[in-house]
Amino acid sequence: MAEKKLQNQVAIVTGASSGIGSGVAKALAAAGATVIVNHPATATEAAAEITLAAIKAEGGTGITFQCDVSREEAVKQMFADVITQFGTVDILVNNAGLQRDAPFDEMTLEQWNFVLSVNLTGQFLCAREAIREFLRRGIVPQKSKAAGKIICMSSVHEVIPWSGHANYAASKGGIMMMMKSIAQEFAPKKIRINSIAPGAIKTPINHDAWATPQAEAKLLELIPYQRVGTVEDIAAAALWLASDDSDYVNGTTLFVDGGMTLYPGFSENG
Ligand code: NAD
Repeated sequence: MAEKKLQNQVAIVTGASSGIGSGVAKALAAAGATVIVNHPATATEAAAEITLAAIKAEGGTGITFQCDVSREEAVKQMFADVITQFGTVDILVNNAGLQRDAPFDEMTLEQWNFVLSVNLTGQFLCAREAIREFLRRGIVPQKSKAAGKIICMSSVHEVIPWSGHANYAASKGGIMMMMKSIAQEFAPKKIRINSIAPGAIKTPINHDAWATPQAEAKLLELIPYQRVGTVEDIAAAALWLASDDSDYVNGTTLFVDGGMTLYPGFSENG
């Protein structure tokens, strides 16, 4: 049987009822973690249950937990309930995110605030509760060399500007600097905080970008490695960042993008 690298650890994965979050939740559970499959609303409960059923079918453990990560009291309650039920939290995957796209001159304050509140403030609220718990508990050497691990789901748009998506790109740029700042702040406490920057991954968030052969061909112009990514590509990176295999990795963004950040437009135009 494969070594269970996250045995006896508790992981909260936000936005885990679909896409990347669901894939990450399954990978962490397969590595032995008890996984909290977070989702935002009554409408997402059924999808969260499907993720949890897949986890259990592979012999894993976990629960679903409804919580809108942009709401402070709800986030505090989620962490309090999980700590009461499972004793602690060892891993946070700050994955929940969404888009509300608009040309900048037509973007409403509501569209701006909505994306920032989920993508950036949501990551702040969850990271703060996780760090409070990591500081309280400290290191448990039998489980991990670190007192806790946080993985922030960023995007290639933490560095690539994106017309028509200024709110989304700003949220991801904000995640980059929040991640680095708190990684610096809590490294002496042996808390590791890193980001993953996915390129184009086949999930509901970008369905239109790969749903037809024409759309996929256009997308591939941006990807030197010439394939669209899968949730498994991101899940493997998340598992590595959550495990002691990456113990000396702190405050960095791991780009999992098939080379999208290599300026492919310059490959035949230099
Ligand atoms: P997705 O739409 O399938 O997943 C987003 C999840 O976030 C959904 O499950 C949704 O229910 C959840 N969510 C939304 N608002 C929430 C809230 N307030 N509280 C809790 N959960 C909430 O899309 P995805 O592609 O799996 O996206 C996951 C993350 O990956 C996002 O942060 C996204 O920005 C990032 N990302 C995705 C891609 C890609 O190509 N798919 C690329 C770069 C970054």
